[in-house]
Amino acid sequence: MVKILLIVLDGAADRPLPELGFKTPFEEAYTPNLDFLASIGKCGLMYALSPGIAPGSDVAHLSILGYDPNKYYTGRGCFEALGAFIDLSKNDVAFRGNLATVDENFNIIDRRAGRISTDDARKLLKGLEKITLDSFPGIEILIKHTVEHRCVIILRGEGVSDKVSSSDPGVNGVPVQEVMPMDSSSEAVRTAKLLNTFTKLIYEYLNDHPVNLKRVKEGKPPANIILLRGASRKADIPSFNEVYGLTGACICGVPLVRGICVAVGLEPLTAKGITGTVLTNLKIKAKFAISSLSRHDFVLVHVKGTDSASHDGDLDCKISMIERVDKELIGSILNEVSLDEISICVTCDHATPVKVRKHTGDPVPVVVYSPKICPDSVTSFNEKACVKGSLRVIRGTDVLPLLMNFAGRLVKYGT
Ligand code: ZN
Ligand code: ZN
Repeated sequence: MVKILLIVLDGAADRPLPELGFKTPFEEAYTPNLDFLASIGKCGLMYALSPGIAPGSDVAHLSILGYDPNKYYTGRGCFEALGAFIDLSKNDVAFRGNLATVDENFNIIDRRAGRISTDDARKLLKGLEKITLDSFPGIEILIKHTVEHRCVIILRGEGVSDKVSSSDPGVNGVPVQEVMPMDSSSEAVRTAKLLNTFTKLIYEYLNDHPVNLKRVKEGKPPANIILLRGASRKADIPSFNEVYGLTGACICGVPLVRGICVAVGLEPLTAKGITGTVLTNLKIKAKFAISSLSRHDFVLVHVKGTDSASHDGDLDCKISMIERVDKELIGSILNEVSLDEISICVTCDHATPVKVRKHTGDPVPVVVYSPKICPDSVTSFNEKACVKGSLRVIRGTDVLPLLMNFAGRLVKYGT
């Protein structure tokens, strides 16, 4: 049976840039392996959701894996928790947390506390893994750190609600938001109160913490609060195996995207060196992809560095990340696999233009290769060349059916 490999280059699609003679980073980068795939496959453009809609990486990946986010997306918290390897139970409520910097009036100075190091963050949160508040007996608050300023908060116990707003306003220079109940239930009212109490106590605990006192001395922003967003319960999603009859794995350094994969039943593979940053070891990812294809029908490889460089507005880093992906990931895989036995799709979950530094609703290039596929005339993988591809313009939810079809794993509709 033909195996399926899906490679998602997060936020790699872009717009023409004057400093590149109006080429995009994909056009500027030296990408012989991506161009080879384009020349032997079918190309096109894709909107992960729909034209003009800028998706978050979580909903974009749900869609690309064939799950309608309108039906299955419950909020960010649960996917962050699953991606952090937390065993969520049905009644838990999960949040994404940011270690951040506030002044004494709770005005936010830096939502990422100067992108605090993982080491400092772990020291600050040590001993806070499981806490209870005297005024809210029976409810446990679990805190799990993931990477840099990121953490996951879980409320566990009777009567907790996911119908509460975020304390994180999403921007610097404004006050921490008071968490509000989003419905009139006593559970939501109590949960909002609990979270506001938690926020104050965390500030009192962290503000004078020795790690923060040292950071201030060194001129670094103290990480003296945890901002919460994306309250959600565990999503009820049919597994990849139930939907497609495939077993699968994912190779992904970012908890949020890994959480989407875990939620649909893909086996998450990680190793030292897979960091979810621009420094990630792409050769290890290639090795993992090749070895897991021998055990699974489907493998997703996610690369975050292209998106991080774009959010930082770092064009040189973005171009070199695309070139590294081409050589160290795609080149290494093409050297090892037999093209008679594999279907390969490369795409992006959304565009993150370096000049915008945010996700946008632009279409992204997509290429699908499969043995015996009828190739089109496109010979390079980028935003402009793929316009002429035979796939035309597709949506995220079309990707898996297309791959299944070309891999000979047809799901028939009708008689
Ligand atoms: Zn993304
Ligand atoms: Zn992004």
